Parts: sequence; structure tokens; C-alpha cells
Amino acid sequence: MLSDRQISAQITSRRLLLVAAGMSLLGAAGCRSPWSDEGTAPSAEAAASAAAPPPTAPPTAGAPPAGAPPAGPFPPPAGSGAPPAGEPVHRELTEEESKPVFELDPGQRVVGLTIDDGPDPRHTPTVLALLQQYGIRATFFLIGENAAEHPELVREIADHGHHIANHTWTHPDLRHMSEEAVRDELERTSDLLQRTTGRQPTWFRAPGGDWSPVALRVSRALGLRNLGWSVDPQDWARPGTSVIVDRILKNVRPGSIVLNHDGGGDRSQTVAAMKTYLPALLDSGYSFSAPPN
Ligand SMILES: [Zn+2]
Repeated sequence: MLSDRQISAQITSRRLLLVAAGMSLLGAAGCRSPWSDEGTAPSAEAAASAAAPPPTAPPTAGAPPAGAPPAGPFPPPAGSGAPPAGEPVHRELTEEESKPVFELDPGQRVVGLTIDDGPDPRHTPTVLALLQQYGIRATFFLIGENAAEHPELVREIADHGHHIANHTWTHPDLRHMSEEAVRDELERTSDLLQRTTGRQPTWFRAPGGDWSPVALRVSRALGLRNLGWSVDPQDWARPGTSVIVDRILKNVRPGSIVLNHDGGGDRSQTVAAMKTYLPALLDSGYSFSAPPN
């Protein structure tokens, strides 16, 4: 027996596939669930490209059940409702729910800003101040060992209303690890973030975007949806502030998910770039979205 939430999530998935296939059955006003889940991860070489492979579209779609919670650009957490407050409850996802998501609804002038590899006391506070200045909510993919070292920063990110997500404990290449080791990386991080913020993480990103079948199986079992990106300015390589700005502004389109870093090294170029590209995107009519907390 499926709950309304589960049914709604399934319908949402179908709709997104339809939207991605250019077969939108929704009027513009009704286009509330902008997921587009492609099957391939963006490679490092494909920096800042947002190609969408052709999806396979199921033939039907329906309206959400009456009384369903309104969907934002991010789909609702998986499972049959929120776990009881303070309780780390892992809900296994459906295969559909666990497919990595690389873009939001291309029909909305919305951008998902994701900030990886922190928290880092050198950069995270400045990033938070900038996001506050511009009224932007972002998603922070935190590394567990950094979060353990700076729990005050984790709480500060959460207190600012941003979405906190799981980016493994040590940022390893998951493709060469056993299921047990992958599970340890993800579970340990989710548990720490839950203890630190009071919320169980609902989104996961594999380091480097390198999901493996094992990583997908583990994240699914732990109730973590998988979020990729479509615009990668390679800010981690420190190509220069203006290059980061240009790569983002040239490649962002409605529904883009942008990858930035506030940890893992000197990220002053990233921070400087944000000062330019965030107001530029706002000025050109974009709004920013993160999954609901
Ligand atoms: Zn990373």
C-alpha cells in the first residue's frame, strides 16, 4: 500500500521524465516539479556542459493527489513521510528515486547552487555572508571529517537555512571500495550530520560525481537521493576568478545545478567569483533553490 507521498513522488518522477522528453503535459503554471534525471554523470572534461541524454518516457502522468504537499524545484524527501524528529531513520528508496539528478526543471528560471567539500573556517563563513547578502539558499555537501572538526560551522550553515547534505566521510573514490567501506563512509557522515543539526540528510553526492553501482545501492538503502550537477566551473583547480565567473555565466540555463567548493584547499577564487556571478544571475532573473529542510 503506497502512501500519498509515495504516490506523489512516483508521479513527480514520471512528470519529470516527460518534461525532459519535451512532452510536457503540464501547463506552465502547473510545472512545479522540475526534475530531469539523466542517466550519465558529467565528466570532468565536460565541464560546464549540461547535455541531457534522451530519457525514456513512460506513457502516463497524472495529477498529484488532493492535499499533497506543494513541490518545489527539488522533489520531496523519499519514503512515506518525514521520520520522527531527532530519529535517524533510514528509508530505502525506490530505484527511480535513487537515480542521480543532474538538473532541475528547465522550464523554471531557477538554479541549484551546490557547495562542496566543507565546512572550512577559511571560506565557509564568507560564503554564508554572501549568500545571506543576496538572500540565496544553497546546498552544502559536507565532508564528514571536516564537519566533525567544525561542528559550529555545520550548525551555522543549518541556522542560515541552507540544506545540509552528505559528501562521504573522507572524500574517497568510491568506485574502488567494498560495499562495507562505502556504507561506513555514508552512514558515519549521515549520523554525524544528524547529531549536529538534528536532521537526517536526504541527499548525497559521490566525490567527483563518481557513483558506482555499489555507491548507488548503499545510498538507496540509507535513504539518500543522489544529486549531481550540470555546470562545473572547475573552481577547485583555481583557474582564476574571471574564468570561474565566465564559465558559470556562459553555461547556466534554467534548471542548472552549479558546482562550487568552499573546502579542500584555497577557495578564495571561488568566493571572489561568487561576488560577481551571484548578483549577475539574480539580475538576469534567476532564483536559487535548494531542497526543503
Ligand atoms: Zn567533493
